[in-house]
Amino acid sequence: MSKPKTSAKKKGAAAPKRDNFNSLTWHKLRDSAGNVCSFPGCHVHTHGASSDGEGTVGIGVACHIKAAAPGGPRYDERQTKDQRKHSDNGIWMCQTHSKLIDADDSAFEVETLRQWKRDAEARSNSLLNQKSFTEKEVKVAAEQGSVDLLHRFVNRANDPLETPVAEIVKGYESNLENLDSRFTVEVNKSGNHYTHVIQAAQDKVSIDLVLQNLDKLDDFWASQKAFVEEGRELRIPGKHFELKGSKLFDAIQQKANGVGQGVLTIGGVKKPIAANLYIRTDGGSEVFIESFTCYYTSGTMRTVFEGSALEGFIAIKAHCSHEGQDHQFDLSFNVEPWKGKNILELPRFARLLKAAQLMDKGRLVFELEVGSNAAAFDSKSSMSSDEFHAQLQWVILYLDVARKIAEQCDKPVLLHELDFDYQLYKELKKYVKLLAGPIHTQQTPGFVCSGVLNEYEPGAMERAQSRGCSSQIKLAQEDSLVFGLFGTVIRAPRREYIYTGVETLYFSDIEERGEPRVEIHATPETSVVVQLQPSEAWTVLDDWDGSELPAVID
Ligand SMILES: [Zn+2]
Repeated sequence: MSKPKTSAKKKGAAAPKRDNFNSLTWHKLRDSAGNVCSFPGCHVHTHGASSDGEGTVGIGVACHIKAAAPGGPRYDERQTKDQRKHSDNGIWMCQTHSKLIDADDSAFEVETLRQWKRDAEARSNSLLNQKSFTEKEVKVAAEQGSVDLLHRFVNRANDPLETPVAEIVKGYESNLENLDSRFTVEVNKSGNHYTHVIQAAQDKVSIDLVLQNLDKLDDFWASQKAFVEEGRELRIPGKHFELKGSKLFDAIQQKANGVGQGVLTIGGVKKPIAANLYIRTDGGSEVFIESFTCYYTSGTMRTVFEGSALEGFIAIKAHCSHEGQDHQFDLSFNVEPWKGKNILELPRFARLLKAAQLMDKGRLVFELEVGSNAAAFDSKSSMSSDEFHAQLQWVILYLDVARKIAEQCDKPVLLHELDFDYQLYKELKKYVKLLAGPIHTQQTPGFVCSGVLNEYEPGAMERAQSRGCSSQIKLAQEDSLVFGLFGTVIRAPRREYIYTGVETLYFSDIEERGEPRVEIHATPETSVVVQLQPSEAWTVLDDWDGSELPAVID
């Protein structure tokens, strides 16, 4: 060990001293990578017999993650010699890829290489005790139709449809077809799943579906009825059915049951259909709200339509009996899908509001476009229709008031919490009226308020009375309204009341002339203007600090 050190010194300072891996570490790196290059997707085997069979050939390299010497890629001067030489600092590569990561200007970062290393180790571990095949062997297997071998190859790769052998999928498909030539098989990849589309290749293909122990399945008979009568999806877990009469289905079921995930799904082919939602009044006027897509399934008894409009806000379910009776139409609304949205950006809100304003005299109607005809379902036919419309109307009107307030606020109001507070709604409606401008009202004659003049200047009272003024008085709310609107805390400007034409009565104690009291009375001539204090704004408070009380409502 000491000899190479001296020889390195002799070569001079130009060649920096390298902290190389020792033989033990080198072997450890090779074995934990499974003697395969760790570069993603490379998978090249790095050792084998030489072509003459006389010796072995190795093309593997133990590379440093953080460089072995100063100036190398990813060199870390804080590393000790031992850390630099440790197997933790190494990664196993083929010749080609070792050059790529060992280049002085290598762009690969330490964490990238560590990830490759972890992946390679996981892969090598998963291949332990597995058979290995060359690409050539797999191609031959595909041609010969060796399902068994192909299966093993498919299981071995992380993603069978991205294996280097394109033929494998075709071969796999045709081999499944060979199991039962009455069917065609197509394999499709979608995300990390691959699906087998199996279709009958001839007119009459029968296989037996044997169902067992169905009584142990919750709701099976109800689901079965829905399947027959309405074409709804019917799901039967693997333990409860057997498909008899086809080797293909035998194979599929065996495989599915092997992983304990077999579920037979029958029917449930949902077909899309264009639908419109609008409101129609008894007087015949209509407000269109939205066009959307509905889905339907059909069985022996009736057709079932399901869909949702306004990004999930309104859900529609309709039954349509084939015999012409027993139509049922249910609407429901749910604010949940709108959660997180800015309340000023709710879908089609303007139209929804228009509809809500007509809801006292009208009903929601949902129309299906069947060919060139339109089949309309009037929600009047639904059971709790009135209740539904009243609720929906209130929620929309509430949102409308909230939106008018949000327009005034300095920050966006998002639909965080779904709370609708009727008391707050009534109070906010008063504020919304004032947003349009001051409101003039009358006041019943009589006492309005009283107070103490605490900044009293001797003689001022007399002067005021002699001028006959002070017939106008401004009163402001003592506290601002602080309230939560869908999880955002807002402070409203204070309301102020300006009384004109009031009568002012001054009192003063003979003994305490310094503190005269004043009483304001309204007369038949008194008029009142209510307005929001012009100097105050609608403010979104970042925190509810508790010092200001929430919504004080009288
Ligand atoms: Zn490689």
